[in-house]
Amino acid sequence: MAITDKIYVKNHQQLVSQLERSFPKGAFKGATMDVLYQGEGLSKLNDATRDRVLDFAEDFLDCDCEANPHCGCAERKFLRYLLELREQGLGPDAIVDVMGDDYMLYAYPGDVLSFLDNSVRTLEAAEALAAVDGKPAAAEDVRELRQNLVR
Ligand SMILES: [Zn+2]
Repeated sequence: MAITDKIYVKNHQQLVSQLERSFPKGAFKGATMDVLYQGEGLSKLNDATRDRVLDFAEDFLDCDCEANPHCGCAERKFLRYLLELREQGLGPDAIVDVMGDDYMLYAYPGDVLSFLDNSVRTLEAAEALAAVDGKPAAAEDVRELRQNLVR
């Protein structure tokens, strides 16, 4: 399962009762995108909640794809967001805190840790491939990306 399948909406029950509509806990589930992030229910949310829901929509659901919000861009952007937090030196617990503050989302720190570990391993493999392929500049670029994640 991708990490985006393990990102959940905080205060889920409270939001369901404010919107008077049910939607799944998973932030990237199709029905959550439709009901919470694209729906007409925004006006029913309290101010603090609405701001964060809007921030999420603006930061991750702003593409022009025909299939928006089900095109996959949101998931890709969210992975980049997680990696950027890691590059800033944050560990899994701090990353979970930040996504709560920014977007009212949560994840289990263990899931975030596995995601970061997998990303590092993927980059290691890419670096080795580039080196074998006789592309030292590419290998160097990948090494730099990886080192930013593990420092
Ligand atoms: Zn898109």
